[in-house]
Amino acid sequence: MEAVCIVQFKVFYRVGVAGEKAVLLDERITDSYYGICFGANVACFGRNWISQFIKTINKPFFIDPVTYVIQFDVENISKEGELKKSYSKLFSEYGLPVMETNKQMKPTDFNDDRLTLFIQKVLDFQKNFTQSASGSQQSLFDYAELLGDPVPSSSKVPEFLIAPYFLFENTDDGWYALNLKILAISKQRSDDIPIYGMICTNFDTLQKSSEVKKIIEDYSKMDGIILWISDLNEYRMNRDELISYLKFINQLKNIKCDCITLYGSYFSMLASKFGLNGISPGIGISEFKRVRDQPTGGTFSNKYYIPEAKTMAVEADARTFYVDNPSTLCTCVICKGEEINTIKDIHSFFEELDSTKAKSHYCMNRYLELEKIKSLSEGELQSILDNDIEFCETNIGQVYKIPFSHLFSWKSAIAKFVSERDDTSS
Ligand SMILES: [Zn+2]
Repeated sequence: MEAVCIVQFKVFYRVGVAGEKAVLLDERITDSYYGICFGANVACFGRNWISQFIKTINKPFFIDPVTYVIQFDVENISKEGELKKSYSKLFSEYGLPVMETNKQMKPTDFNDDRLTLFIQKVLDFQKNFTQSASGSQQSLFDYAELLGDPVPSSSKVPEFLIAPYFLFENTDDGWYALNLKILAISKQRSDDIPIYGMICTNFDTLQKSSEVKKIIEDYSKMDGIILWISDLNEYRMNRDELISYLKFINQLKNIKCDCITLYGSYFSMLASKFGLNGISPGIGISEFKRVRDQPTGGTFSNKYYIPEAKTMAVEADARTFYVDNPSTLCTCVICKGEEINTIKDIHSFFEELDSTKAKSHYCMNRYLELEKIKSLSEGELQSILDNDIEFCETNIGQVYKIPFSHLFSWKSAIAKFVSERDDTSS
């Protein structure tokens, strides 16, 4: 399949727990995002509810195969000396041996036959994920049909499949060579679903131009690219690091390949102007993740998204700020239902703020931000950041515990990147 140039920016929300269903199915929210995605371990463990959710929501989805976990000590994904259930189920889907704690696989553990079978199983797991409804689920569908209720279609396929992938430190790494072999074998499949390659590496790699050139050349043969740059924390990166990220994305744009980042926050949405086609964060959580961190679902507790600071604040800190600045509280469709005139109103707003509402407010703001970014030219991006910076300096300053210094780095990174790029091209 030929690579195509994608113009739409896609926000896929990574779903970790069943509680997010309510947010994503809320009709005020459903049009605010493009699709959903799951880690394969979560998908495998919650297969029934997840496949039903995918059918009900009827939106594009993909499954991250999370194959990298076997590179590291399985202790990371074990509990009391035994592999966690979600992973033992997944490993059996993938045809992997159950490994003992303190064991990890090496690139050389895969001979050709084993590798081919492994790739097939990983891709088939994603492709056929929604196919097998359990007996009890099927009888529920049959019953719904009998009553004349809408029955979700029998199966849905992902928007794209992701080839098995491993973290590589550099292009001389044995895992890099294995990744390329996997991509070559994956390409031979005759599916009608595109197959994407995952570039999973450390941030250092992005800062070496010869490495970047080789990686892009090697991955450009795929139908699309998923990026997982470990340590790419948009809130903590300095200007030059952010520029390296933009340069990398801009080079991917030149190969006209769909490119979506795993995780990602507002800065990655700004990067849509320079070639990025999508992000896949959790709702209000997991906007970045280090590959070597223990894979957990992440937790979302008592936080509220501050639209102008483009970050989540602890509920108590957000409340303190809005008690002093009630007129600046969000007016999105989720929050505006409340008549906010007094300090007492602010207190009751935060008392009623549960995680569903906080997440819905996050989704709604992401949507509004993206619509705004779409309508602006590259040059105007800096002026919307200027407005946010002015708001934060005037109203938040050093007084409240709401960080916003990342806005300065984002703005100067974009300004420098644009001027350097234009200098080179003129
Ligand atoms: Zn809101």
